[in-house]
Amino acid sequence: MAEECIFCKIIAGELPGEIVDSDERTVAFMDINPATPGHALVVPRAHSTDLMDIADEDLEATIVAARRLARRIEAALDPDGFNILNACRPAAWQTVFHFHLHVIPRYEDDPLKLPWIPRGAEEGQIAAVAEKIRAAGA
Ligand code: 5GP
Ligand code: ZN
Repeated sequence: MAEECIFCKIIAGELPGEIVDSDERTVAFMDINPATPGHALVVPRAHSTDLMDIADEDLEATIVAARRLARRIEAALDPDGFNILNACRPAAWQTVFHFHLHVIPRYEDDPLKLPWIPRGAEEGQIAAVAEKIRAAGA
């Protein structure tokens, strides 16, 4: 448990949380500022800061738990779709530094919008970036 981590405190029962699912490695609870009705978060019990930090076993358990939760939300709320979202680091909107997956049920008439504008790329740019990524190896 990390000192001052609100998600560690929710997991430990030291802060209130609407817990909707849990297993040996993960806990799922409702987001306090829901993007849509049913928006929930799935977190590993073991504190890790973000995607770069989390152990493979916890990452696997968290994505499996996210799908289990999505199925449960589907049965309960009958949404039209889902987004599973992770923010890694402040530049990517992360605000709580305990790894989490957002499970966001989507409804045909909800107000959410794609957060980027598809605008293509300069000739050769995608291939050049792909080559850089391949060259970086694992
Ligand atoms: P991030 O911005 O890091 O991807 O997501 C953090 C999420 O945690 C936000 O959607 C925010 O509403 C939620 N959140 C922040 N503080 C609390 C809290 O104390 N309890 C709960 N249940 N959710 C929280
Ligand atoms: Zn934590």
